[in-house]
Amino acid sequence: MARTARTYAARDGNAEASGSRARRRVESSPAEEDVRVPATQEPEGDGNDEDEEDEPQDPRENWTIKTFKDVPIRSTVAIGEVRKLGDELLKRERMAEDSIQVAKETATAYEAASPGDKVIDSIQKQLIDDLEALARINIRKEALEELTTELRTSGGMDDLWAFYKRSIQARGAEYGELTLRKKYADNDHFKEFRAGIWEVNHEGEPIPPMTRWLERQDGDPEDDDVEMGGTTQTYKCPITMRVYEDAAKSTVCGHYYSYAAVLELIGNATRTQRQGRAAQARCPVAGCNKVITPDVIKKDPAMQRQADAFVRRQRDREEREAADESYIEME
Ligand SMILES: [Zn+2]
Repeated sequence: MARTARTYAARDGNAEASGSRARRRVESSPAEEDVRVPATQEPEGDGNDEDEEDEPQDPRENWTIKTFKDVPIRSTVAIGEVRKLGDELLKRERMAEDSIQVAKETATAYEAASPGDKVIDSIQKQLIDDLEALARINIRKEALEELTTELRTSGGMDDLWAFYKRSIQARGAEYGELTLRKKYADNDHFKEFRAGIWEVNHEGEPIPPMTRWLERQDGDPEDDDVEMGGTTQTYKCPITMRVYEDAAKSTVCGHYYSYAAVLELIGNATRTQRQGRAAQARCPVAGCNKVITPDVIKKDPAMQRQADAFVRRQRDREEREAADESYIEME
């Protein structure tokens, strides 16, 4: 009850500064930051400020996500509301992903029309804004999952909002510590963005490490570029010597292979015995020699898409060349 009273007092404090206290309260809620909580209902919102001021109703009668901090609530009701919040996050996630797709396509088009155009830098900035938004959405999704678990096990909570807020803050603080390179050098969207641009004018050439396009920040190792420079992407499996099929990456050295081929290589190596012990498999990339096990081999669909795109472009070029030749023959 004390909490409810305090909340009403705080709202009255805002009244003079804002035409609509309800809206003002939503905007100033610290837990919301960049992702707005959906208005499942307008908080007591008919725009009639007088009523709210004079007769504060029992919030339990008409509670919303925005007022649930004041309301002890049964889990069954709360889980339904939490689900609505989750749906809204999914909607925002799709919007960010659409925007990311547009950035990829636009940047590739610019590179084709005007190689190295400065516009591409600003498209990358836009992309990073979208990726940051996506990261914030993910943090909220995780916090909601945690909240749902808590609701299911506790049967009821009297301060869902504070719980949600604390969860977001803890996760957000951890994410905020990361440098640009730590966030994006291994991000699938970022890699696809840069690979798409690269391939326009460097067909068949291995793409440089992503660090080339992400400035070094405090907390990044000095020799980051050198360290990652060995990871080249030629789309050819070092085992089959053909373009990747079901591309997979070794997490110990960053080298790529065709998935089935590398598992077979590991299987063959570990079946041979050396002095009564199973032998270890080693990465077949020249100069690498890292021990690889099935546990460190992870499928990489983004890399496979790049390899497929590479094959398509190669085929198109061959067809073009064949068409040119037949044209010459006709003359
Ligand atoms: Zn390797």
